[in-house]
Amino acid sequence: MEYGRSLQKIGVFGGTFDPFHNGHLAMAKEAVRELSLDRLLVIPAGNPYLKGRISPYGIRFEMADAALRTLSDPRYEISDLEADEEKPTYTYLTLQKLHKEYPESRLFFICGRDVFNGIRNWRSPDRILKEAALAVFRREGSGKEGLPPEEDLKKEAEGLKEIFEGASCVFLDSVIPPVSSTMIRDMISGGKDISGLVPEGVERIIRKKGLYR
Ligand code: ATP
Repeated sequence: MEYGRSLQKIGVFGGTFDPFHNGHLAMAKEAVRELSLDRLLVIPAGNPYLKGRISPYGIRFEMADAALRTLSDPRYEISDLEADEEKPTYTYLTLQKLHKEYPESRLFFICGRDVFNGIRNWRSPDRILKEAALAVFRREGSGKEGLPPEEDLKKEAEGLKEIFEGASCVFLDSVIPPVSSTMIRDMISGGKDISGLVPEGVERIIRKKGLYR
């Protein structure tokens, strides 16, 4: 893929982030490095309707913000674009808003393979793929097993390109720590120590607010 010199490359990293963990932090850093992004926006979902019970938006936002602060790098930004907790959060709408805000930019939607695998079931996958290239991290050993093998995911990428004109998928090489938010929540409710699995600022918020007990 060739991008004009003047085009800014922006990573769009959406998620529930309940809580934001070291896997998320590694994805943010590796996406910027592998894709040479000019900036990366972390966007906590206000109402991720495909997930069950989740912590309030404000708390998840605070944790993601605390995690990004540890990087002390202005390229990483937290965004409240999906702050609305009432209406379901649709990624295509977020991408359309970003496209309007940054018309001279190329958007990359950063995700793990579990999300990539289900993207056809999201609202308006055609519009998601029109607005952004998908940048997909592999995800092993983090309680998200049962995903199709790599070759099948590559086939899925080909299929998406056939159905949705202009679709583009990049598979990233970096190995991300096998952590999931579910694992963190389960460990806390089971009284286990989560240090080393989430950034320190996130751990402090979890402890202070007594989350996931
Ligand atoms: P949960 O366990 O509650 O489902 P999660 O750990 O998957 O949460 P999300 O906030 O749902 O976290 O994930 C946001 C994005 O980050 C998704 O695209 C997901 O695939 C990706 N992701 C999260 N953890 C990892 C990981 N360890 N490796 C690769 N991708 C990940």
